Amino acid sequence: MTLLVLDLKDLAKYPFLKESQEYVSKRAPSFEQFIQSNYGRSVLNRAGERVIAAIRQKKEGPEESLQDAENDLFSYGLARVIVSCIGERGVTERHARFEAARVYRFLSEERPELRTFVINQVGLDPSTNRLRVTEYVELAASLRDDRWRLVNRILDHGWVQLEPGDLEELLREKIRVILQRQLPLPVTKELCTTIAPVLSAITASYQEQILQQFGEVDESCFPPCINALITAITAGTNIPHQGRFAITAFLNAIGLTVQEIVELYCRAPDFDVEKTMYQVDHITGGRGTEYTAPSCATMRTYGFCIQRESLCEHVNHPLNFYLIKKKKGEKEKEISTPGSVSPQKPPQRDEKERDTGD
Ligand code: SF4
Repeated sequence: MTLLVLDLKDLAKYPFLKESQEYVSKRAPSFEQFIQSNYGRSVLNRAGERVIAAIRQKKEGPEESLQDAENDLFSYGLARVIVSCIGERGVTERHARFEAARVYRFLSEERPELRTFVINQVGLDPSTNRLRVTEYVELAASLRDDRWRLVNRILDHGWVQLEPGDLEELLREKIRVILQRQLPLPVTKELCTTIAPVLSAITASYQEQILQQFGEVDESCFPPCINALITAITAGTNIPHQGRFAITAFLNAIGLTVQEIVELYCRAPDFDVEKTMYQVDHITGGRGTEYTAPSCATMRTYGFCIQRESLCEHVNHPLNFYLIKKKKGEKEKEISTPGSVSPQKPPQRDEKERDTGD
């Protein structure tokens, strides 16, 4: 059996491996001291760039990474500290997706023995053509294409049969799930204070991204399900908790403030300002966890999906409905007023890859 030797570049390419983490803890046992050093500060800069690239949904190829493999390896850990201090679910998700995509890109060009080693380390068998149902469901949950739905799969005694190429996509998901599951790290307030300027710059960049993605709120682009729920509330109908949750999470995602969301509820005859403030604050992340708006599949199970517009047939998330309709409206406006310039940048990202899993 050939002994696999990992060099510094290998460790930097796959920084979540036990071997990589051991290297980091040997070379930088004290975070506080490390971050005060000149070298620590240069790594912090690289870590900040890494998180910003994740927020902006950029892709980093091998040419941008690994110019300084050790710096790159350290910056992975620091990027996770940054994300943990920020504590914003959207940032964590983007970070995990970015890092998983990066690992996946390296893996696709990797020498066979290292590729097999890494795939085994994440708990998959590179030669398999089936997965346990429980694992399959966890990994396929955020894959949007219908072919991933369990009803479209062959099941055999608790195993799901895989088609050629499936394992590749599931591998990327598996890496993402592992990276995300380990977050947030248990960071102290003191530690976060040490890197506060970097955190502020990144938080500002994230807010900017959200604003660019959704732009001004346009009620005329709300999907039928959300419109129906809002109408029901306004008419004084007692809608179930899941309905209030769906509206709140949706409005929060498109950029309404807590105050603006509460104002919507005050149209309801049974409006209780304190109770509403508490619930809205809770759903929008005021108590530490920001909840994601439910997908069409979830809306369907609650009976909220009324699919009154043809666009509904092409989306799997009410937020995608909103974005697509809004973009379409903006394009039409541009065409009808020749020479006009759109005040907003278009969303930066493929609709399929949006952070809308629930
Ligand atoms: S398909 Fe989606 S967007 Fe359309 S009404 Fe149903 S849940 Fe809402």
